Amino acid sequence: MLPIVLSFDVEEHDRIEAAVHLNVDAILKRTYADRMEMATRRLLDQLAAADNTPATFYVVGEIAATHPKLVRDIAAAGHEVGSHSHTHLRVHRFSPDTFREDLKRSVDTLEQAAGVKVRGFRAPTFSLMKETAWAVDELLRVGLSYDTSIFPVRHDRYGVPSAPRGPFYLEGTAGRILELPPLTLRRLGQNLPVAGGGYFRLFPLWFMKAGLADMPNGLGMLYFHPWEFDPGQPKLPLGRLSQLRTYVGIGKSEQRLGNLLTAYRGRFRRAADVADELATAALPSFRLR
Ligand SMILES: [Zn+2]
Repeated sequence: MLPIVLSFDVEEHDRIEAAVHLNVDAILKRTYADRMEMATRRLLDQLAAADNTPATFYVVGEIAATHPKLVRDIAAAGHEVGSHSHTHLRVHRFSPDTFREDLKRSVDTLEQAAGVKVRGFRAPTFSLMKETAWAVDELLRVGLSYDTSIFPVRHDRYGVPSAPRGPFYLEGTAGRILELPPLTLRRLGQNLPVAGGGYFRLFPLWFMKAGLADMPNGLGMLYFHPWEFDPGQPKLPLGRLSQLRTYVGIGKSEQRLGNLLTAYRGRFRRAADVADELATAALPSFRLR
């Protein structure tokens, strides 16, 4: 049966890509940090209430430094803690050496807070792409078991549309790492990014469910952010399109997640467990360039 992974990228709301050019003042930053913790704890409660459904939380390393108890509580509830980088900068902003240092720092800080090993990585804004193919070797050097940063879609800010839609081996020059790509739905010769984000909030839940029905031998890797479950947060001063993309449907997210938890009960796994299950599987290989 198709395993489904609920993954949450844990970051304060003002770290979103659409807000990188904004100067968010210290008081508002503090508010978003508090609301990030609150929204993450509400998600932990919702998962616990649904028969302790397991999930994976890719946490920004700096948050493990400011909120170590939150990271410890995520792990103690039986969820996986993965890395969402230390500073939440896109991979494009680094050299191989500074990227490896940032990643290593996040892994060390998260492991110290969680008390368990970090095995997986998700790049901020899915920024592992053709231009940043060098980063694959750095993931291997840091010793991670899998990556989940390659979105096989065409998008203005991210994506590798030619990458396989199911799990595959991502080839570097120093070896290969297991890749668990977020869910897509193949329609009219295009891969639609139905794994989360605007597709979860803007479109009917039917899109995500069609994606989950579409990959009988694949993996249902879904992704969400705690701020997407917080309708009461103050809004960032974004442009009109970003405003729509960012805030549409937030009031319905909790109920929609509840719907998924009920509809697919018993099929949820942590990403690291899927990686273990795939350890002996014959999977396709793919090279970014
Ligand atoms: Zn992120």
